[in-house]
Amino acid sequence: MPSSNPRYAFASRRREIRKRVLAYYDTCAICGKPVDKSLKTPDPMSAEVDEIIPVSRGGSPIEWGNVQLTHRRCNRIKSNKSLAWARHKLTGAPLPKPRATSVPFTTSGL
Ligand SMILES: [Zn+2]
Repeated sequence: MPSSNPRYAFASRRREIRKRVLAYYDTCAICGKPVDKSLKTPDPMSAEVDEIIPVSRGGSPIEWGNVQLTHRRCNRIKSNKSLAWARHKLTGAPLPKPRATSVPFTTSGL
């Protein structure tokens, strides 16, 4: 088992959780609009599974509580920023705190 790439070990569990997310959710967690799951990947409105807390910030890509359905477009805008920041960019929702872009938010309210 390659120890240099921890994401490789998660590959099969990632596929599992992606299937569950696609089956469970119908709307984008960021912009709140319906996701057309028949759209294919290069389409900006196609379905994508996003980690709420990015892996780069210690979030788990295989934990049900840390994944959500998004549009590819919305996920690109969110990138490694917070969910609140992406919502702000896409829907004009107010940012909860001025420092939201530099500090990862917690999932305690979910
Ligand atoms: Zn969206």
